[in-house]
Amino acid sequence: MLYQRSSQLFAEAEKVIPGGVNSPVRAFRAVGGTPIFVKSAKGAYLYDEDGNRLIDYINSWGPMILGHAYEPVVESVIHRAKLGTSFGMPTALETEIAALAVSMVPNIDKIRFVNSGTEACMSAIRLARGFTKKDKIIKFAGCYHGHSDSFLIQAGSGAITFGTPNSPGVTAGTAKDTLLARYNDLENVTQLIEANKNEIAAIIVEPVAGNMGCIPPKDGFLQGLRELCTANNILLIFDEVMTGFRLAKGGVQELFNIKADIVCFGKVIGGGLPVGAFAAREEIMNYLAPLGPVYQAGTLSGNPLAMAAGLAMLKALNEDAAFFKD
Ligand SMILES: *Cc1c(COP(=O)(O)O)cnc(C)c1O
Repeated sequence: MLYQRSSQLFAEAEKVIPGGVNSPVRAFRAVGGTPIFVKSAKGAYLYDEDGNRLIDYINSWGPMILGHAYEPVVESVIHRAKLGTSFGMPTALETEIAALAVSMVPNIDKIRFVNSGTEACMSAIRLARGFTKKDKIIKFAGCYHGHSDSFLIQAGSGAITFGTPNSPGVTAGTAKDTLLARYNDLENVTQLIEANKNEIAAIIVEPVAGNMGCIPPKDGFLQGLRELCTANNILLIFDEVMTGFRLAKGGVQELFNIKADIVCFGKVIGGGLPVGAFAAREEIMNYLAPLGPVYQAGTLSGNPLAMAAGLAMLKALNEDAAFFKD
């Protein structure tokens, strides 16, 4: 059998990990079969526990944009690990990657690093709410922004006023502040804004949707969101966790020449280590603690190994201008 050892490992994992996995898609439920357990990877290939060599079309869901075990990333991580792996105090490395990210992405002055895309989106929403002093957000059906409570919401028939949670454990209180809109449907967004006048803090969108197949924005959709946001004192949040440092050096903002108010990152920005980030112009970012009133923190945020991997990745993408040419 081709995947005998993987099957055994999965059976063992199921005894001590819910569903045998630490993130549900890895259980292969949607595609059938049992998960392949990876032993190592290099470039475009995975090597599994049964000794099979497989072409990897997943790329860790995004981070491995330059292939697995990309040498500069690996070398940086090894170098850093020997210098200590976590301090709970600042390092020069954090400023270096922040400055590089700010130089690559349009319309951002400051960036804060967190540990995942989920954390980035969750924090961006809190910041938007604190900054605008409003509670509700609009998200789009089919767009994924991680697993924090505010985003696990499905529209009921009363979508204009109430969202209903699509996971137990998300309270009705949280759900009522998330409004669900249809992607590429400006009319729908306009209606939601009208029905919730002066209550919407932010619209969060995957500016090129990657979590419901790859759905590009229709002509004028992102521009329309920009105009609606500006006209109604709503912050436009681009969730570029998937598109950031990928569609263009500066992501969708650069490619489509549309200005977001807050941008979220993950995946590529960590070079394969657990990193997320959110960024905005100075006025908004200064609203975060310790400068401002909106609290956000993390023991391992800006972790030196993670920053080393991310920095090596961004440097490679920044220097290789040809990478983004076609
Ligand atoms: C993957 C993804 C997230 C969540 O990031 P995690 O690091 O898995 O928490 C958020 N938004 C988008 C668009 C994503 O593709």
